[in-house]
Amino acid sequence: MFLLADDWWQIAAAGEKGLGVFAMKEIKAGTIIGDYLGKVIKTARYDLDRDKKGLFLMYFTDQASIYPNLKKPGIHLLNHSCRPNCWIYTYYGHSLFFALRKINPGEELTISYLLSPKDEICNPCVHTCKCESKFCTGTMHLSRDKYEIWQKFQNNQKKKSKKIKVVFGKNLPKLTTYPKRVPNNPIYSLIANM
Ligand SMILES: [Zn+2]
Ligand SMILES: [Zn+2]
Repeated sequence: MFLLADDWWQIAAAGEKGLGVFAMKEIKAGTIIGDYLGKVIKTARYDLDRDKKGLFLMYFTDQASIYPNLKKPGIHLLNHSCRPNCWIYTYYGHSLFFALRKINPGEELTISYLLSPKDEICNPCVHTCKCESKFCTGTMHLSRDKYEIWQKFQNNQKKKSKKIKVVFGKNLPKLTTYPKRVPNNPIYSLIANM
């Protein structure tokens, strides 16, 4: 679900990547873009046949994940980039996307899919990156360094954040209120520039 009003973004063709989300207005750094909503499913029961690249599943708890409604426009349409301009802020367990830096009108909104470092499990790997950023590593898998920094940060956040109950098979309800901006945290700029 987008939390930015409709006139702030547009879904359009993004070259080889298929569809993408583009800014229509200047988005300030720290602005919350949307909430990753969808059906709560058991992570273990995930049907990889429907989503061969496994890119739409969003971690929620160790047992539960969120699978978005692919028929509706939503922030699951953000493409991966090795140098993304958006990042994830965990808020009451929800994954909010926010602008890591100022995003100009016409610019594509991108996120890191935060795939764990490449290993034997992902073989043959289908996660080729086509982000065309100067820093493209050619793969959507994070480097071990970046992954470890992010995991450590997120585990700390998780300990601090309130636990919320989820119902399997039901849509994750939206929160009653959302912050407009994320708190400034040095981890974001650190990650963004790695
Ligand atoms: Zn892979
Ligand atoms: Zn790339």
